[in-house]
Amino acid sequence: MKIQEADAKSLLVAQGLPVPAWEVADATEEARLAAERFFAGGAQQVVIKAQVLVGGRGKAGGVKLAGFPDQAALIAGAILGMEIKGIPVRKILIGPAADIVKEFYMSAVLDRAAGRILLMGSSEGGVEIEQVAAADPAAIVRVHADPLLGLRDFQARQLAFAMGLGGAHLKAAVAIARGLVTTMLAYDADLVEINPLAIVRETDAGGASVERLVCLDAKITLDDSALPRHPELEALRDPDDEDPADREAREAGLTFIKLDGTIGCMVNGAGLAMTTMDLVKRAGGEPANFLDIGGGARADRVAAAMRLILADPKVNAILVNIFGGITRGDEVARGLIEARAVQEREVPMIVRIVGTNAAEAATLLQQASFTTAASLDDAAAMAVAASRQAGTAA
Ligand code: GDP
Ligand code: MN
Repeated sequence: MKIQEADAKSLLVAQGLPVPAWEVADATEEARLAAERFFAGGAQQVVIKAQVLVGGRGKAGGVKLAGFPDQAALIAGAILGMEIKGIPVRKILIGPAADIVKEFYMSAVLDRAAGRILLMGSSEGGVEIEQVAAADPAAIVRVHADPLLGLRDFQARQLAFAMGLGGAHLKAAVAIARGLVTTMLAYDADLVEINPLAIVRETDAGGASVERLVCLDAKITLDDSALPRHPELEALRDPDDEDPADREAREAGLTFIKLDGTIGCMVNGAGLAMTTMDLVKRAGGEPANFLDIGGGARADRVAAAMRLILADPKVNAILVNIFGGITRGDEVARGLIEARAVQEREVPMIVRIVGTNAAEAATLLQQASFTTAASLDDAAAMAVAASRQAGTAA
């Protein structure tokens, strides 16, 4: 799950990392009031940033500076009216603009192959790190944190030195590197990226100019599988982050992955779902999805599964393969009958239900004139034939 910059910054602040002040607004007037507060607090300029879950907002015109409240309101209005990479901007972040001396890059990612958190740093900040990696791989420094000992101080110092942060900002850079690891662990994140990490010039209470290392941008992705351990983070979910089909699947408790084929598959159990896909392929067809309706699937869940399958316009045949254990065959049959009564388009459906209450299921399906198959091989062959026929007819 990706979260917005402002939310990511809140998590960083909670872990003690240095982030300049900000507010979030979803309307022009609100932005003006926030800007007035920042100017009253001594800001020379404010920065206004689109809150969308894509990178490169700066280049797309989603990051702008303003010198007075009316200008801030104008810019906020313009950014709130924008779409960035197809995503409408619904919120902006506003804060005192940083006076940037130099931009760096620092991130922590889960390195699955190494089974460790990997820290990456570069003195080439602000630009997309993929570009740096392609143009000059040596410009990126990598350090693995130890799973037990964490990121040790000497490692953090190595990283900082290699990034060109060995001088006055060494202590701050070390603290930030450690903070990224802490943030990864605290929220089960799989990415915490600061780009840019920036040296900024500020004026202290006595009016003297000082330099400080701060996280100017923040990107965090959370491990979906670990979200149940952090129920409070669920509130940070952005509706634009999720495909509508994925959301419906998650809310209905289904595991659904869309694929490119034409044969919709409705199966209970992940293993059986994969086997079903294999058999569809062996019979010469292409599965349109992976779908596990789970154990004990009730009629409403079956109906939701059917909606998801049929929402894909490429689907021209459906194969239902249920092995009744905890799941009762008659319950699934009832769900299929209910779903068919309300479904928006008609496609051939082949149903195979074995196991618990298979006989009851068979009776119900027969009464409702469903096409059934006794074996999985038969079911797959029938579904492939039906899909081919629909394909030639179209
Ligand atoms: P991204 O383009 O989506 O990664 O958004 P960023 O927050 O990283 O902003 C892009 C660029 O805008 C940064 O690399 C900076 O050069 C610039 N920028 C962002 N915030 C400020 C700020 O407060 N002051 C100034 N002067 N520039 C900023
Ligand atoms: Mn950035």
